[in-house]
Amino acid sequence: MTIISKILDNYYSKKTGKGGYVKIHLDMDCFFASCERAINPRLRNKPIAVGGRSDTKIFEKNFTARQLYNKNRGAFVPNIFYPTKGDKDKAFENFFIDKRGDKTKIRGIITTASYEARAYGLKTGMTIRESLLLCPRLLVLPPNHLLYHEFSHKLFVFLKLKIPLVEQYSVDEFFADLRGWVKDEDLLDFCINLQQDILKKFKLPITIGIAKSKWAAKLVTSSAKPFGVREVKEDEWSNFIKNMPIQKFPGIAKGYKRRLESRGIRTLGEIKNAKNLFYSWKKPGIQLYRRVLGVDNEPIIQETPRKSIGISRTFDPIKQRCEIRRRVSILARNLAYTIIKLNLNPTSYYLSIKYENFLKSKHRITIDRFFNEKFFKFLMLEIFNETDIYKAQKVKYIGISASNFMEYKQKPFNLLTFEKDIKFKKMGDSIQKLREKYGIDIIKNGCEI
Ligand SMILES: [Mg+2]
Repeated sequence: MTIISKILDNYYSKKTGKGGYVKIHLDMDCFFASCERAINPRLRNKPIAVGGRSDTKIFEKNFTARQLYNKNRGAFVPNIFYPTKGDKDKAFENFFIDKRGDKTKIRGIITTASYEARAYGLKTGMTIRESLLLCPRLLVLPPNHLLYHEFSHKLFVFLKLKIPLVEQYSVDEFFADLRGWVKDEDLLDFCINLQQDILKKFKLPITIGIAKSKWAAKLVTSSAKPFGVREVKEDEWSNFIKNMPIQKFPGIAKGYKRRLESRGIRTLGEIKNAKNLFYSWKKPGIQLYRRVLGVDNEPIIQETPRKSIGISRTFDPIKQRCEIRRRVSILARNLAYTIIKLNLNPTSYYLSIKYENFLKSKHRITIDRFFNEKFFKFLMLEIFNETDIYKAQKVKYIGISASNFMEYKQKPFNLLTFEKDIKFKKMGDSIQKLREKYGIDIIKNGCEI
Protein backbone atom coordinates (compact mmCIF):
# COMPACT_ATOMS: atom_id res chain seq x y z
CA MET A 1 0.00 0.00 0.00
CA THR A 2 1.42 3.39 -0.92
CA ILE A 3 1.70 6.33 1.47
CA ILE A 4 -0.99 8.34 -0.36
CA SER A 5 -3.27 5.34 -0.27
CA LYS A 6 -2.69 4.96 3.51
CA ILE A 7 -3.38 8.64 4.17
CA LEU A 8 -6.59 8.43 2.14
CA ASP A 9 -7.56 5.28 4.00
CA ASN A 10 -7.15 6.98 7.37
CA TYR A 11 -8.87 10.11 6.15
CA TYR A 12 -11.84 8.25 4.83
CA SER A 13 -12.32 5.87 7.72
CA LYS A 14 -12.30 8.85 10.12
CA LYS A 15 -14.74 10.74 7.96
CA THR A 16 -17.29 8.02 7.40
CA GLY A 17 -16.50 5.52 10.11
CA LYS A 18 -16.40 2.77 7.49
CA GLY A 19 -14.46 2.03 4.34
CA GLY A 20 -16.10 4.24 1.76
CA TYR A 21 -14.24 3.07 -1.27
CA VAL A 22 -14.67 4.67 -4.64
CA LYS A 23 -12.90 3.26 -7.66
CA ILE A 24 -13.36 4.23 -11.25
CA HIS A 25 -12.52 2.32 -14.39
CA LEU A 26 -11.76 4.25 -17.55
CA ASP A 27 -11.93 2.51 -20.90
CA MET A 28 -11.30 4.20 -24.22
CA ASP A 29 -14.04 3.46 -26.78
CA CYS A 30 -12.77 1.45 -29.78
CA PHE A 31 -9.36 2.88 -28.95
CA PHE A 32 -7.24 2.06 -32.02
CA ALA A 33 -10.02 3.20 -34.38
CA SER A 34 -10.57 6.38 -32.31
CA CYS A 35 -6.84 7.23 -32.44
CA GLU A 36 -6.96 6.95 -36.23
CA ARG A 37 -9.98 9.27 -36.25
CA ALA A 38 -8.31 11.74 -33.90
CA ILE A 39 -5.61 12.37 -36.50
CA ASN A 40 -7.83 11.93 -39.56
CA PRO A 41 -11.31 13.49 -39.22
CA ARG A 42 -12.42 12.01 -42.57
CA LEU A 43 -12.66 8.65 -40.82
CA ARG A 44 -15.35 9.86 -38.42
CA ASN A 45 -18.90 8.44 -38.54
CA LYS A 46 -17.84 5.68 -40.94
CA PRO A 47 -17.56 1.94 -40.48
CA ILE A 48 -13.82 1.54 -39.96
CA ALA A 49 -11.64 -1.10 -38.37
CA VAL A 50 -8.00 -1.49 -37.43
CA GLY A 51 -6.63 -4.84 -38.45
CA GLY A 52 -3.58 -6.76 -37.41
CA ARG A 53 -1.41 -9.66 -38.40
CA SER A 54 1.69 -11.21 -36.95
CA ASP A 55 4.57 -8.92 -37.88
CA THR A 56 6.94 -11.16 -39.81
CA LYS A 57 8.86 -8.22 -41.26
CA ILE A 58 11.53 -8.61 -38.61
CA PHE A 59 12.61 -11.76 -40.44
CA GLU A 60 13.18 -9.93 -43.74
CA LYS A 61 16.84 -9.62 -44.56
CA ASN A 62 16.79 -5.95 -45.55
CA PHE A 63 14.47 -4.75 -42.81
CA THR A 64 16.08 -1.97 -40.79
CA ALA A 65 15.61 1.02 -38.49
CA ARG A 66 13.25 0.15 -35.69
CA GLN A 67 13.14 1.44 -32.15
CA LEU A 68 11.54 0.33 -28.92
CA TYR A 69 8.71 2.28 -27.29
CA ASN A 70 8.43 1.44 -23.62
CA LYS A 71 6.94 4.44 -21.81
CA ASN A 72 3.76 2.59 -20.89
CA ARG A 73 3.66 0.20 -17.96
CA GLY A 74 0.76 -1.97 -16.87
CA ALA A 75 -0.44 -5.51 -16.35
CA PHE A 76 -1.45 -5.84 -20.00
CA VAL A 77 0.77 -3.35 -21.79
CA PRO A 78 3.22 -4.85 -24.28
CA ASN A 79 6.51 -3.28 -25.37
CA ILE A 80 6.36 -2.33 -29.03
CA PHE A 81 8.86 -1.79 -31.80
CA TYR A 82 8.20 0.86 -34.39
CA PRO A 83 9.89 1.82 -37.68
CA THR A 84 11.92 5.02 -37.27
CA LYS A 85 11.72 6.00 -40.93
CA GLY A 86 7.95 5.61 -41.31
CA ASP A 87 6.41 2.52 -42.78
CA LYS A 88 6.06 2.35 -46.52
CA ASP A 89 3.87 -0.74 -46.36
CA LYS A 90 0.95 0.90 -44.60
CA ALA A 91 -1.50 0.58 -47.48
CA PHE A 92 -4.18 -2.12 -47.22
CA GLU A 93 -2.87 -3.92 -50.32
CA ASN A 94 0.67 -4.12 -49.00
CA PHE A 95 -0.16 -4.98 -45.44
CA PHE A 96 -3.06 -7.42 -45.63
CA ILE A 97 -2.81 -9.00 -49.08
CA ASP A 98 -0.38 -11.74 -49.98
CA LYS A 99 0.16 -12.46 -53.63
CA ARG A 100 1.71 -15.80 -54.45
CA GLY A 101 1.79 -16.79 -58.07
CA ASP A 102 -1.75 -16.32 -59.30
CA LYS A 103 -3.27 -16.68 -55.83
CA THR A 104 -4.31 -13.69 -53.74
CA LYS A 105 -5.07 -14.05 -50.06
CA ILE A 106 -6.44 -11.51 -47.57
CA ARG A 107 -4.64 -11.99 -44.26
CA GLY A 108 -5.17 -10.70 -40.75
CA ILE A 109 -7.87 -10.20 -38.16
CA ILE A 110 -9.89 -7.29 -36.80
CA THR A 111 -8.22 -5.75 -33.75
CA THR A 112 -10.73 -2.91 -33.19
CA ALA A 113 -13.95 -2.03 -35.00
CA SER A 114 -15.76 1.32 -34.79
CA TYR A 115 -19.34 1.22 -33.49
CA GLU A 116 -20.61 1.95 -37.02
CA ALA A 117 -18.84 -1.24 -38.13
CA ARG A 118 -20.07 -3.23 -35.15
CA ALA A 119 -23.61 -2.53 -36.32
CA TYR A 120 -22.84 -4.93 -39.21
CA GLY A 121 -21.92 -7.66 -36.74
CA LEU A 122 -18.16 -7.10 -36.77
CA LYS A 123 -16.24 -8.27 -33.74
CA THR A 124 -12.67 -8.21 -32.50
CA GLY A 125 -10.85 -11.34 -33.61
CA MET A 126 -12.93 -11.86 -36.76
CA THR A 127 -10.93 -12.37 -39.95
CA ILE A 128 -10.71 -9.38 -42.26
CA ARG A 129 -12.03 -11.52 -45.11
CA GLU A 130 -15.16 -12.35 -43.12
CA SER A 131 -15.64 -8.70 -42.04
CA LEU A 132 -15.51 -7.45 -45.61
CA LEU A 133 -18.25 -9.91 -46.55
CA LEU A 134 -20.42 -8.55 -43.71
CA CYS A 135 -19.66 -4.92 -44.47
CA PRO A 136 -18.27 -4.40 -48.00
CA ARG A 137 -17.71 -0.66 -47.51
CA LEU A 138 -15.67 -1.25 -44.37
CA LEU A 139 -12.41 0.68 -44.28
CA VAL A 140 -9.67 -1.52 -42.83
CA LEU A 141 -6.55 0.27 -41.61
CA PRO A 142 -3.19 -1.33 -40.89
CA PRO A 143 -2.20 -0.79 -37.24
CA ASN A 144 -0.08 2.15 -36.10
CA HIS A 145 0.95 0.96 -32.64
CA LEU A 146 3.31 3.83 -31.98
CA LEU A 147 0.40 6.27 -32.35
CA TYR A 148 -1.77 4.27 -29.93
CA HIS A 149 1.02 3.95 -27.38
CA GLU A 150 1.81 7.66 -27.57
CA PHE A 151 -1.85 8.54 -27.00
CA SER A 152 -1.97 6.05 -24.14
CA HIS A 153 1.05 7.62 -22.46
CA LYS A 154 -0.34 11.15 -22.86
CA LEU A 155 -3.68 10.03 -21.40
CA PHE A 156 -1.94 8.49 -18.40
CA VAL A 157 0.07 11.68 -17.77
CA PHE A 158 -3.13 13.74 -18.10
CA LEU A 159 -5.07 11.49 -15.71
CA LYS A 160 -2.29 11.70 -13.11
CA LEU A 161 -2.65 15.48 -13.14
CA LYS A 162 -6.37 15.15 -12.40
CA ILE A 163 -6.32 12.26 -9.91
CA PRO A 164 -3.53 11.27 -7.47
CA LEU A 165 -3.98 7.49 -7.66
CA VAL A 166 -4.09 6.12 -11.20
CA GLU A 167 -3.17 2.68 -12.53
CA GLN A 168 -2.48 1.93 -16.15
CA TYR A 169 -4.06 -1.46 -16.74
CA SER A 170 -3.76 -1.89 -20.48
CA VAL A 171 -2.99 0.35 -23.42
CA ASP A 172 -6.55 1.75 -23.31
CA GLU A 173 -7.75 1.08 -19.75
CA PHE A 174 -7.03 2.75 -16.43
CA PHE A 175 -8.17 2.41 -12.84
CA ALA A 176 -8.27 5.27 -10.36
CA ASP A 177 -9.13 5.79 -6.71
CA LEU A 178 -11.29 8.81 -5.93
CA ARG A 179 -11.85 8.36 -2.21
CA GLY A 180 -11.04 11.49 -0.24
CA TRP A 181 -10.46 13.28 -3.52
CA VAL A 182 -14.00 13.79 -4.78
CA LYS A 183 -17.08 14.00 -2.56
CA ASP A 184 -19.63 11.21 -3.06
CA GLU A 185 -22.31 13.59 -4.34
CA ASP A 186 -19.90 15.04 -6.94
CA LEU A 187 -18.62 11.74 -8.36
CA LEU A 188 -20.81 11.67 -11.43
CA ASP A 189 -20.14 15.32 -12.34
CA PHE A 190 -16.42 14.87 -11.84
CA CYS A 191 -16.37 11.91 -14.24
CA ILE A 192 -18.58 13.61 -16.83
CA ASN A 193 -16.19 16.58 -16.81
CA LEU A 194 -13.23 14.24 -17.14
CA GLN A 195 -14.88 12.54 -20.11
CA GLN A 196 -15.52 15.91 -21.79
CA ASP A 197 -11.97 17.14 -21.07
CA ILE A 198 -10.50 14.01 -22.68
CA LEU A 199 -12.74 14.41 -25.71
CA LYS A 200 -11.74 18.07 -26.08
CA LYS A 201 -8.02 17.63 -25.46
CA PHE A 202 -7.38 14.36 -27.29
CA LYS A 203 -10.47 13.97 -29.54
CA LEU A 204 -10.90 10.52 -27.99
CA PRO A 205 -14.16 9.08 -26.61
CA ILE A 206 -14.01 7.32 -23.24
CA THR A 207 -16.43 5.46 -20.97
CA ILE A 208 -16.15 5.67 -17.19
CA GLY A 209 -17.66 3.33 -14.59
CA ILE A 210 -17.93 4.26 -10.91
CA ALA A 211 -18.36 1.66 -8.15
CA LYS A 212 -16.94 0.44 -4.86
CA SER A 213 -14.10 -1.63 -6.28
CA LYS A 214 -11.93 -1.96 -9.37
CA TRP A 215 -13.62 -5.00 -10.91
CA ALA A 216 -17.08 -3.73 -10.02
CA ALA A 217 -16.22 -0.44 -11.76
CA LYS A 218 -14.98 -2.37 -14.81
CA LEU A 219 -18.32 -4.17 -14.96
CA VAL A 220 -20.16 -0.83 -14.76
CA THR A 221 -18.04 0.54 -17.62
CA SER A 222 -19.00 -2.33 -19.91
CA SER A 223 -22.68 -1.62 -19.17
CA ALA A 224 -22.22 2.06 -20.08
CA LYS A 225 -20.44 1.70 -23.45
CA PRO A 226 -19.99 3.56 -25.71
CA PHE A 227 -19.24 7.09 -24.47
CA GLY A 228 -21.04 6.69 -21.16
CA VAL A 229 -20.49 7.64 -17.55
CA ARG A 230 -22.31 5.51 -15.02
CA GLU A 231 -22.26 5.19 -11.27
CA VAL A 232 -23.69 2.21 -9.43
CA LYS A 233 -23.99 2.95 -5.72
CA GLU A 234 -23.44 0.44 -2.92
CA ASP A 235 -27.14 0.00 -2.19
CA GLU A 236 -27.93 -0.50 -5.90
CA TRP A 237 -25.26 -3.17 -6.42
CA SER A 238 -27.35 -6.29 -5.66
CA ASN A 239 -29.99 -5.18 -8.09
CA PHE A 240 -27.42 -4.26 -10.74
CA ILE A 241 -25.81 -7.72 -10.78
CA LYS A 242 -28.97 -9.71 -10.13
CA ASN A 243 -29.67 -10.85 -13.71
CA MET A 244 -26.27 -10.10 -15.23
CA PRO A 245 -24.81 -13.13 -17.11
CA ILE A 246 -21.64 -14.41 -15.37
CA GLN A 247 -19.42 -14.06 -18.44
CA LYS A 248 -19.85 -10.26 -18.29
CA PHE A 249 -17.71 -10.16 -15.18
CA PRO A 250 -14.00 -9.45 -15.75
CA GLY A 251 -12.00 -12.66 -15.35
CA ILE A 252 -14.81 -15.15 -15.90
CA ALA A 253 -13.65 -16.73 -19.14
CA LYS A 254 -14.96 -19.80 -20.95
CA GLY A 255 -13.48 -22.42 -18.60
CA TYR A 256 -14.71 -20.78 -15.42
CA LYS A 257 -18.09 -20.09 -17.03
CA ARG A 258 -18.57 -23.79 -17.82
CA ARG A 259 -17.56 -24.76 -14.30
CA LEU A 260 -20.09 -22.36 -12.79
CA GLU A 261 -22.83 -23.37 -15.20
CA SER A 262 -22.35 -27.01 -14.24
CA ARG A 263 -23.33 -25.89 -10.72
CA GLY A 264 -26.42 -24.17 -12.09
CA ILE A 265 -24.95 -20.65 -11.74
CA ARG A 266 -25.71 -18.42 -14.71
CA THR A 267 -26.03 -14.93 -13.25
CA LEU A 268 -23.92 -12.78 -10.94
CA GLY A 269 -26.90 -12.65 -8.59
CA GLU A 270 -26.69 -16.44 -8.28
CA ILE A 271 -22.99 -16.13 -7.40
CA LYS A 272 -23.97 -13.75 -4.60
CA ASN A 273 -26.35 -16.35 -3.23
CA ALA A 274 -23.74 -19.13 -3.28
CA LYS A 275 -21.30 -17.78 -0.68
CA ASN A 276 -20.60 -21.17 0.94
CA LEU A 277 -19.75 -22.78 -2.38
CA PHE A 278 -17.25 -20.05 -3.33
CA TYR A 279 -15.67 -20.00 0.13
CA SER A 280 -15.19 -23.79 -0.14
CA TRP A 281 -12.99 -23.13 -3.22
CA LYS A 282 -10.52 -21.30 -0.98
CA LYS A 283 -8.51 -18.32 -2.24
CA PRO A 284 -9.56 -18.07 -5.92
CA GLY A 285 -13.21 -18.73 -5.02
CA ILE A 286 -13.21 -16.20 -2.18
CA GLN A 287 -11.45 -13.64 -4.35
CA LEU A 288 -14.02 -13.96 -7.13
CA TYR A 289 -16.92 -13.85 -4.66
CA ARG A 290 -15.63 -10.65 -3.07
CA ARG A 291 -14.97 -9.08 -6.47
CA VAL A 292 -18.48 -9.85 -7.69
CA LEU A 293 -19.95 -8.29 -4.55
CA GLY A 294 -17.70 -5.26 -5.00
CA VAL A 295 -16.14 -5.60 -1.54
CA ASP A 296 -12.62 -6.78 -2.46
CA ASN A 297 -11.07 -3.31 -2.02
CA GLU A 298 -8.05 -4.21 -4.13
CA PRO A 299 -5.63 -1.27 -4.32
CA ILE A 300 -4.63 0.82 -7.32
CA ILE A 301 -1.23 -0.40 -8.49
CA GLN A 302 0.88 2.54 -9.56
CA GLU A 303 4.03 0.63 -10.48
CA THR A 304 3.48 -2.88 -11.75
CA PRO A 305 6.57 -5.01 -11.13
CA ARG A 306 7.61 -6.76 -14.32
CA LYS A 307 7.09 -10.50 -14.15
CA SER A 308 8.17 -11.61 -17.57
CA ILE A 309 9.02 -10.23 -20.95
CA GLY A 310 8.82 -11.98 -24.27
CA ILE A 311 8.49 -11.88 -28.02
CA SER A 312 6.78 -14.31 -30.39
CA ARG A 313 5.85 -14.65 -34.03
CA THR A 314 3.47 -16.76 -36.10
CA PHE A 315 4.46 -17.36 -39.71
CA ASP A 316 3.80 -19.60 -42.71
CA PRO A 317 5.00 -23.13 -41.80
CA ILE A 318 8.71 -23.72 -42.44
CA LYS A 319 10.58 -27.01 -42.65
CA GLN A 320 14.23 -25.89 -42.97
CA ARG A 321 15.85 -25.82 -39.53
CA CYS A 322 18.54 -23.33 -40.60
CA GLU A 323 15.83 -20.77 -41.42
CA ILE A 324 14.04 -21.41 -38.12
CA ARG A 325 17.32 -21.06 -36.22
CA ARG A 326 17.88 -17.77 -38.02
CA ARG A 327 14.46 -16.62 -36.81
CA VAL A 328 15.16 -17.72 -33.22
CA SER A 329 18.35 -15.69 -33.38
CA ILE A 330 16.47 -12.59 -34.64
CA LEU A 331 13.85 -12.90 -31.90
CA ALA A 332 16.65 -13.31 -29.34
CA ARG A 333 18.41 -10.16 -30.59
CA ASN A 334 15.18 -8.15 -30.32
CA LEU A 335 14.36 -9.44 -26.86
CA ALA A 336 17.96 -8.97 -25.64
CA TYR A 337 17.82 -5.33 -26.76
CA THR A 338 14.60 -4.82 -24.80
CA ILE A 339 15.93 -6.55 -21.67
CA ILE A 340 19.11 -4.44 -21.68
CA LYS A 341 17.19 -1.23 -22.38
CA LEU A 342 14.87 -1.92 -19.42
CA ASN A 343 17.89 -2.74 -17.27
CA LEU A 344 16.64 -6.20 -16.29
CA ASN A 345 18.55 -9.34 -15.43
CA PRO A 346 16.38 -12.41 -15.93
CA THR A 347 17.29 -15.81 -14.51
CA SER A 348 14.59 -17.99 -16.15
CA TYR A 349 14.26 -18.52 -19.87
CA TYR A 350 11.47 -20.08 -21.87
CA LEU A 351 10.97 -21.15 -25.45
CA SER A 352 7.90 -22.59 -27.12
CA ILE A 353 7.32 -24.01 -30.57
CA LYS A 354 4.08 -24.66 -32.40
CA TYR A 355 4.10 -27.02 -35.33
CA GLU A 356 1.74 -27.61 -38.17
CA ASN A 357 -0.92 -30.18 -37.16
CA PHE A 358 -1.36 -28.61 -33.68
CA LEU A 359 1.74 -30.23 -32.17
CA LYS A 360 3.47 -28.16 -29.49
CA SER A 361 6.67 -28.27 -27.50
CA LYS A 362 8.11 -26.01 -24.78
CA HIS A 363 11.08 -25.81 -22.47
CA ARG A 364 12.09 -23.66 -19.49
CA ILE A 365 15.45 -23.36 -17.80
CA THR A 366 16.90 -21.35 -14.93
CA ILE A 367 20.43 -19.94 -15.07
CA ASP A 368 21.83 -17.33 -12.68
CA ARG A 369 24.06 -15.45 -15.08
CA PHE A 370 24.87 -11.84 -15.70
CA PHE A 371 22.73 -10.96 -18.73
CA ASN A 372 24.32 -10.22 -22.09
CA GLU A 373 23.19 -10.67 -25.66
CA LYS A 374 25.86 -13.14 -26.69
CA PHE A 375 25.12 -15.61 -23.91
CA PHE A 376 21.37 -15.16 -24.43
CA LYS A 377 21.50 -15.94 -28.15
CA PHE A 378 23.55 -19.09 -27.68
CA LEU A 379 21.25 -20.17 -24.89
CA MET A 380 18.11 -19.65 -26.97
CA LEU A 381 19.54 -21.63 -29.90
CA GLU A 382 20.55 -24.39 -27.51
CA ILE A 383 17.08 -24.47 -25.94
CA PHE A 384 15.56 -24.48 -29.42
CA ASN A 385 17.50 -27.64 -30.34
CA GLU A 386 16.30 -29.35 -27.19
CA THR A 387 12.70 -28.19 -27.59
CA ASP A 388 12.43 -29.08 -31.28
CA ILE A 389 11.32 -32.68 -30.78
CA TYR A 390 9.29 -33.12 -33.97
CA LYS A 391 12.10 -32.50 -36.42
CA ALA A 392 10.16 -33.81 -39.42
CA GLN A 393 7.35 -31.29 -38.83
CA LYS A 394 7.00 -27.78 -40.16
CA VAL A 395 7.20 -24.99 -37.56
CA LYS A 396 4.65 -22.13 -37.59
CA TYR A 397 5.29 -20.32 -34.30
CA ILE A 398 8.24 -19.45 -32.08
CA GLY A 399 7.92 -17.68 -28.73
CA ILE A 400 10.74 -16.82 -26.34
CA SER A 401 10.56 -15.11 -22.96
CA ALA A 402 12.59 -14.28 -19.89
CA SER A 403 11.47 -13.93 -16.26
CA ASN A 404 12.47 -14.16 -12.57
CA PHE A 405 14.31 -10.87 -12.60
CA MET A 406 17.23 -10.32 -10.19
CA GLU A 407 15.77 -6.95 -9.20
CA TYR A 408 12.98 -8.71 -7.37
CA LYS A 409 14.79 -11.85 -6.22
CA GLN A 410 18.29 -11.53 -4.84
CA LYS A 411 20.37 -14.40 -6.16
CA PRO A 412 24.13 -14.87 -6.47
CA PHE A 413 25.64 -15.03 -9.97
CA ASN A 414 27.56 -18.02 -11.20
CA LEU A 415 31.21 -17.10 -10.46
CA LEU A 416 32.65 -19.35 -13.17
CA THR A 417 30.96 -17.40 -15.95
CA PHE A 418 30.88 -13.98 -14.29
CA GLU A 419 34.18 -12.66 -15.70
CA LYS A 420 33.34 -13.79 -19.23
CA ASP A 421 29.88 -12.24 -18.96
CA ILE A 422 31.30 -8.91 -17.77
CA LYS A 423 33.49 -8.85 -20.89
CA PHE A 424 30.51 -9.67 -23.15
CA LYS A 425 28.41 -7.09 -21.36
CA LYS A 426 30.99 -4.35 -22.06
CA MET A 427 31.01 -5.30 -25.72
CA GLY A 428 27.23 -5.37 -25.72
CA ASP A 429 26.99 -1.89 -24.16
CA SER A 430 28.60 -0.22 -27.15
CA ILE A 431 26.36 -2.18 -29.56
CA GLN A 432 23.35 -1.13 -27.49
CA LYS A 433 24.35 2.53 -27.82
CA LEU A 434 24.63 2.23 -31.60
CA ARG A 435 21.22 0.54 -31.75
CA GLU A 436 19.60 3.23 -29.63
CA LYS A 437 20.88 5.78 -32.09
CA TYR A 438 20.37 4.02 -35.42
CA GLY A 439 17.77 1.30 -34.73
CA ILE A 440 17.80 -2.27 -33.49
CA ASP A 441 18.76 -3.75 -36.85
CA ILE A 442 21.89 -1.67 -37.38
CA ILE A 443 23.97 -4.57 -36.07
CA LYS A 444 22.76 -8.09 -36.83
CA ASN A 445 24.26 -11.50 -36.17
CA GLY A 446 26.30 -13.18 -38.88
CA CYS A 447 23.82 -16.03 -39.07
CA GLU A 448 20.89 -13.67 -39.80
CA ILE A 449 22.16 -12.51 -43.17
MG1 LIG B 1 -11.37 0.01 -24.79
